[in-house]
Amino acid sequence: TNTIIAIDGYSSCGKSTLAKALAKKLHYLYIDSGAMYRAVTLYFIRHAVPLDDEQKVAAALAAIHIDFHTAAGQTCISLNGEDVSEEIRQMFISDYVSEVSAVKAVRSAMVAQQQRMGRNKNIVMDGRDIGTTVFPDADLKIFMTADPKVRAERRYLELKNKGEDITLEEVFENLAHRDYIDTTREESPLVRANDALILDNTDLNEEEQLQFVLDRL
Ligand code: C5P
Repeated sequence: TNTIIAIDGYSSCGKSTLAKALAKKLHYLYIDSGAMYRAVTLYFIRHAVPLDDEQKVAAALAAIHIDFHTAAGQTCISLNGEDVSEEIRQMFISDYVSEVSAVKAVRSAMVAQQQRMGRNKNIVMDGRDIGTTVFPDADLKIFMTADPKVRAERRYLELKNKGEDITLEEVFENLAHRDYIDTTREESPLVRANDALILDNTDLNEEEQLQFVLDRL
């Protein structure tokens, strides 16, 4: 049968870096669930979908098709056929994605698609509710944490390198804001699954994080 590795945790803890390294090493499929919520958020912004209007939210979700594909060795995400991989990393998405992700109908649509993508495949999926809601029977669950200052600095450098006009303070605030909404929302809030192993990567390099997981498979 297939193997599922679930990686959850706070924003900018290095989940996707670890998940990608694992997928590469094990020849598993990597699925970035956060990218899906970001793509939905982009659509909601473009079409000014009001989050409190259930009918409009449902209609929008029915009109959204999200796909992953590989281009030049990189995993890309498309929204209704348009490659939005770059755009969804921008700050205007990060500023609103947790609000959109707290909407019940958004979550049930994404969870259903994520469960379909993992059927009969070996996958590494990262997110906030993978070990608790999407794949409660995952073979290995990791819950990642890191010092909030370290997380903000890492993300700040990443965004700066991409040319975003932003301050460290703004990045710190955004991470705190998302963590707050993600941990306090009503529908599948971010919480460590009872059987998830804690991986604090404040003082671990990428090689050490990878080894931590491989040792436990
Ligand atoms: O992983 P990333 O930081 O790109 O996720 C962006 C946002 O999407 C998170 O802050 C969270 O609000 C939402 N998300 C979620 N459930 C997931 C993955 C992401 O609610 N499984």
